[in-house]
Amino acid sequence: MERKMTPQELTGCFDEALEKGYILVYYQPQINHSTGRMVGAEALMRFKHPEFGIQYPNDFIPVFEENGLIVRADLNVFEQVCRFQKKCLQEGLSPVPISANMSRHDILESDYVDRLEEIRKKYDIPVDFLRIEITESSAIAGMDVMTNAIDKLHAYGYLVEMDDFGSGYSSLNVLKDLDIDMIKLDMRFLSGDVGGRGGTIISSVVQMSKWLETPVIAEGVETSSQADYMRSIGCNYIQGYLYSKPVPEAEFVEKLKILDHSPETPLTRFEDSSDAGRFWDPESIETLIFSNFVGPAAIFTYTNGHASIMRVNQKYAKEVCGGAKVSEILNTDPWDGMTDNGRAEYEDAIKRAIETGEETECDCWREIHSDCCGDDKICVRSNIRVIGKAGEQYLFYAMVRNVTAEKKRFDDYRQAERLFRAAFDQVDMYAWEYIFKTHEMHPCFRCMRELGLPPVIKNYPAPVFESGLFPMDYRDMYYEWLKDLEEGAESREGIIPLTVGRIPFHVRYTTEFDENGKPLKAYGSATLVTE
Ligand code: C2E
Ligand code: CA
Ligand code: CA
Repeated sequence: MERKMTPQELTGCFDEALEKGYILVYYQPQINHSTGRMVGAEALMRFKHPEFGIQYPNDFIPVFEENGLIVRADLNVFEQVCRFQKKCLQEGLSPVPISANMSRHDILESDYVDRLEEIRKKYDIPVDFLRIEITESSAIAGMDVMTNAIDKLHAYGYLVEMDDFGSGYSSLNVLKDLDIDMIKLDMRFLSGDVGGRGGTIISSVVQMSKWLETPVIAEGVETSSQADYMRSIGCNYIQGYLYSKPVPEAEFVEKLKILDHSPETPLTRFEDSSDAGRFWDPESIETLIFSNFVGPAAIFTYTNGHASIMRVNQKYAKEVCGGAKVSEILNTDPWDGMTDNGRAEYEDAIKRAIETGEETECDCWREIHSDCCGDDKICVRSNIRVIGKAGEQYLFYAMVRNVTAEKKRFDDYRQAERLFRAAFDQVDMYAWEYIFKTHEMHPCFRCMRELGLPPVIKNYPAPVFESGLFPMDYRDMYYEWLKDLEEGAESREGIIPLTVGRIPFHVRYTTEFDENGKPLKAYGSATLVTE
């Protein structure tokens, strides 16, 4: 009767299973979604009991991990993979690289990698046809343990894949610290909102430049819309039910026969590549990851004055493109809508970023059009950084922020200040503002013109006493006023003799409060006492 076996049954028959071949390997093809070629496969363990039928890893692997048998089971799978590759080679069926899983228990076995290598040698398989997947969760064993294993695998020539990337919170850190050749990004972990996951933008961007050289396989891809999406962001390598479930060896051989799998030039790194179409494989995946936990971001290329947007995330479309479709954004010239000045500043930031290798910043006004709100002008702050280079072409990562509101507030403020200063030219009055927070005084134009005051007086009122504009004998009173006003008094006024001529002026202060009733500034004025 076919049924799920109990842990006792699984453990009890393990030796028999190895001996009689109950442990089987299923193969799941990895496909280049753009070309339809098979680029590799993953070996997945199955346990087929003569009486209870097929058992699945999620059921029996935890049992074997618990009792330590997983190490022998994994070595057995690896040996079966080698045997299979040998058979392919002997039968003239050109093999694809096959990845075997290395569990975190295997990693703890100090001679595990040597044992893999012994098996490989026994079957005399070129190491290029074998790859090792290690999971992020192995980091639990300690980063040094993991690093050792990876170094050893590399020393023997194996490519190492990071399995289940995106499943754990430590993804970013683990990736940064480990010398991984390929990332397996599981769609099942990425669906839904992972927006809450941490990592500051800055450190992520720094890390990203490392990631750029690491190609990605998307696994768990079930629908063509998922695959198309992955392709649209530059990830072509797909493993999942969409193309094929894991299949028994015989079925896999059939696939090998019909599916083109002649080796493609894989995994071109941007640095070495002049082929603009291909460099996307490795890095664009960051857009996917990043779109889940950073703000508006774009990736663009820059070649001798010509810029082209390659990737943007949804937040970018929403915040700086008035909600335009991503595909539309990709088809527009990034300089469109920028003022000449804005463009010059942006190019300047680009050049500085190229020269220094550092992040640079610029604010730039653009015109945007949206269906709901028509045309509008927005100011976009971009922080940009070079993340790759191919010949004359530079690849940039840009984090952007709509700072229009901030800018407008500032402009409004400047405008109000101009009005304020000009208004007092029309009446017989000197006027100024005193800002509590900064202790700055901003005089009107008349003050500036007739009293020779600068546009801003810092550390007010000390300078006006030093200059003799205000008489020293009024100093204490005047300081007292300003203190009262700063503490919430609504007004102060009195007669003060000004200038060395001690001409009596009526000096008045009125406080302005913010929306919480906190004193912001005081408007000061002085009018000549006439009678
Ligand atoms: P994994 O290494 O992440 O393997 C991928 C799993 O996702 C496989 O489950 C595969 O059948 C499944 N899968 C593939 N495409 C799709 C898809 O489109 N949709 C969905 N929902 N699932 C998909 P499987 O074979 O049941 O293996 C489960 C896990 O068991 C593996 O996850 C791996 O962690 C472990 N495992 C499998 N074989 C071995 C092995 O030989 N050694 C060790 N240590 N662990 C293994
Ligand atoms: Ca795996
Ligand atoms: Ca996986």
